[in-house]
Amino acid sequence: MTSTRRSLLKTTAGLGATAGAALLGACATAQSGYGSVGSPLFSLPAVTVPIVGSNSTFPVRRIYCIGRNYRAHSIEMGSNPDREPPFFFQKPTDAIQYVAPNTVADHKYPTLTKNYHYEVELVAALNKGSGGKKIEIDQALDLVYGYALGLDMTRRDLQRALGDEKKPWEIGKSFDQSAPIGPIHPVSSIRHIGKAGIWLKVNGNTKQNANLSQMIWSVAEQISKLSEAFELFPGDIIYSGTPENVGPVVRGDVIDCHIDGLPNLSVKIV
Ligand code: MN
Repeated sequence: MTSTRRSLLKTTAGLGATAGAALLGACATAQSGYGSVGSPLFSLPAVTVPIVGSNSTFPVRRIYCIGRNYRAHSIEMGSNPDREPPFFFQKPTDAIQYVAPNTVADHKYPTLTKNYHYEVELVAALNKGSGGKKIEIDQALDLVYGYALGLDMTRRDLQRALGDEKKPWEIGKSFDQSAPIGPIHPVSSIRHIGKAGIWLKVNGNTKQNANLSQMIWSVAEQISKLSEAFELFPGDIIYSGTPENVGPVVRGDVIDCHIDGLPNLSVKIV
């Protein structure tokens, strides 16, 4: 299975390079008829996340998320954790909703869903890239600048229905404000987080409660695997999966999340 996926990737990468070169040629030809490239028509806001103990902010380039990365959660989602290689999806960068510590941010209940779920997750933030090559597991953590606490909010009904129909689950996962996140804590101040309690409460009642050491694929393994498929760059962040007992919230509910060593993250569903 793994070798098949790898060889498929190699084939695709080869095709991509050829197609890319052809496209570049076409662009160069086209541009010569339209004069020089001008300034942007309008500016887009940069998406950044505050860094604890720093005046700098962390610019977000891409949001990667790993699916079914805790054994019991994989089973509750109807999968077999012993048979599944890691898989990833993305959220758009502007899905970020920054939530400052010691505040309760209003989080809008999204449209289209009747089953809106929380997933508490550790987020790893990269400030180094892969340089287009596969990163070995034992070097992967060198890419990590810091960690944050995040929520992978999910329109579960749409995610399931689209999956059942073999359609992309995009609108189940990758919608506006679907990625609440706390501030980033540099590794230089908190070191790498391997073993730490992670929990989530709704209205004070514990719903999720596990340990990061229960991840099937460690952060280092996730980075290594991701780098087979994508060239990683500074600014990429990775939501590293949620433990079991995901569940629904409704308007008025308050979600509190925790990872040992990081400040809690709280949102109210409005
Ligand atoms: Mn998730």
